[in-house]
Amino acid sequence: MIDQDEGRPSPEGAGATAVEARGGDGAQPGAGREDREEDPLEALVRRQLDLLGEDPDRDGLARTPERVAESMRWLTRGYRMTVEEAVNGAIFEDDHDSMVLVKDIELYSLCEHHMLPFFGKAHVAYIPDGRIVGLSKLPRIVDLFARRLQVQERLTEQIAQAVQDAVEPCGVGVVVEAYHLCMMMRGVEKQNSKTITSAVRGNFRSDNRTRDEFLRLVLSPQFIS
Ligand SMILES: [Zn+2]
Repeated sequence: MIDQDEGRPSPEGAGATAVEARGGDGAQPGAGREDREEDPLEALVRRQLDLLGEDPDRDGLARTPERVAESMRWLTRGYRMTVEEAVNGAIFEDDHDSMVLVKDIELYSLCEHHMLPFFGKAHVAYIPDGRIVGLSKLPRIVDLFARRLQVQERLTEQIAQAVQDAVEPCGVGVVVEAYHLCMMMRGVEKQNSKTITSAVRGNFRSDNRTRDEFLRLVLSPQFIS
């Protein structure tokens, strides 16, 4: 945050200055904003609306900064979570030694270049080495990294590495298939192009047959909805 008014504490000072500049909204009762401490993120969204040529005080937009700030914090909540919390101790000794695959994990993220959504599915597989992880924990790990500003390539790698570190299996394979609104709504406007990324660890990397089995299971057309 940039606060050019050095005489006042930030961030309240920056917000109040912006409000006054638009004509004394701060003096009008009814909006309800005066009762709350000004959130710097809300002030920024108000400023953004203003810069886009909108009137942040018109009825439909009056509470938009509050909603956007709340929504953005929720969509980036992965920054405030750890893999340890996501797994929550659900690692169990087990001698199952074949591939475990959780397919079609819903994924919603924001691209870090445009802060626009990308969304799709993640497929996460591993081959246990004496330990398994509670199946519901794999979607939690996906969510932990998806709920941040991301690029799909890094997201895929981070999921694979987190499973590798948490479960210490013989190997891990992750495929992410996603549609990027920054491609669909703007720029090239390629509305049906899907981006597919993969990341492998351990014997998914060293053993061609394991990797091929994994990719066949997640990418064969008959399995894709
Ligand atoms: Zn983008």
